[in-house]
Parts: sequence; C-alpha cells; structure tokens
Amino acid sequence: MLNIVLFGPPGAGKGTQAERIKNQYSLIHLSTGDIFRYNIKESTDLGVMAKEFMDKGELVPDQVTIKMLESEVNKHPESSGFIFDGFPRTTQQAKALDDFLSSKNLSITKMIALEVPNDELISRLFLRGKQSGRADDQDKSIIANRIKVYENQTAVLAEYYKAQNKLATVNGVGSVDEITRRLYRSIDI
Ligand code: AMP
Repeated sequence: MLNIVLFGPPGAGKGTQAERIKNQYSLIHLSTGDIFRYNIKESTDLGVMAKEFMDKGELVPDQVTIKMLESEVNKHPESSGFIFDGFPRTTQQAKALDDFLSSKNLSITKMIALEVPNDELISRLFLRGKQSGRADDQDKSIIANRIKVYENQTAVLAEYYKAQNKLATVNGVGSVDEITRRLYRSIDI
C-alpha cells in the first residue's frame, strides 16, 4: 500500500501532478479542494458552509474537513493506496490522518513537498483563475491570503513529516513532464 501526501503551497501544481501519480501507481486521488468545490456546485450543506471560508481564502474548519476526508477514504476499502492532495493542511489534520490510518493498520508512506517560489505561485494562480474561472484564483488579495494561510498554518507540516523521516522535497519549477519525472524518482527511491 502506497499512501502519499503531495504537499506544497497553492499553485505548486499538486492537482496536475497528483492526477499523473494516481494513474502511474494506481492510487485513489483525494483532493479536499475538489471535494469542497463539488459540494458547492451541488449546493449541499457542506458546500454552503465551506464556500464561506473558501471565498476568503481561509481554511475550512478542521473537524468538518477531517470527517469528510475520512468518509472519502472509507469509500475505497479495496484501493492499493491514496494520493492526498491539499490534505492535511494543519497539524490537527495531520495527527487525525495518522490516527485514522493507524486504526486501519495503515500509514503515510511519504510526504513529497513541491517547492515553488512565491512570485511564480502568484502568476500561476492568476493565470489559472483566468482559464478555469475559479473565483479564489481571480482576486489578488484572496491569493495573497491563501499563501499567507499556507505559510502560517500549513508549512509547519514539513517538519511534522520530517520528524517521522517521511519528508522528500521536489523542485516544482520546470515543465510539467519534467516535474512528473522528478516526482516518480522521489516515489521510487
Ligand atoms: P485547494 O483546491 O487545495 O487550493 O483548496 C481550495 C480551498 O479549499 C482552500 O483555500 C480552503 O479554503 C479549502 N480547503 C481545501 N483543503 C482544505 C483542508 N485540508 N483544510 C481546510 N480547508 C481546505
């Protein structure tokens, strides 16, 4: 069982690369951002609640996010592993994920952090906003807030996984194919 956390700031390329890793290693790709956006589109109670936070570039509260993630994992009992994209984002989420997986005799294999400088992130997000219409990618102040939230609440998780000897870093600047090759190499070690 291969369970990977693909980590990095907004705009690092997690979603694009997670899709490729999913296909290459036959994993289930769980993106909490995608699941929230689906719930917003379907106007579920969860979506209505999550939208309030997402529109401001804030994190959706831990309890709700953790519960949602666990129920998604439980939908795939036969899977040969997961790639987590956009989760965990806080220490509380990382601890909850460890506890939840260990209750199933599972664990995180590796956390791979994609490294991209801030000025490149901002231009990538703004371009994505124009192309995809994603509201939180179209407003410079929301983008700035998401990067700030990442730096204040999420970046610390690299240390959390490093302490478990599970942290790998990958240069996230270059062509999409080049970055994919770097990620495969990091997984295959
Ligand atoms: P993403 O698609 O990963 O950039 O996530 C978009 C937005 O969804 C974030 O700015 C948060 O508002 C929310 N979100 C996604 N994943 C999480 C998470 N693990 N914890 C809290 N909020 C999240």
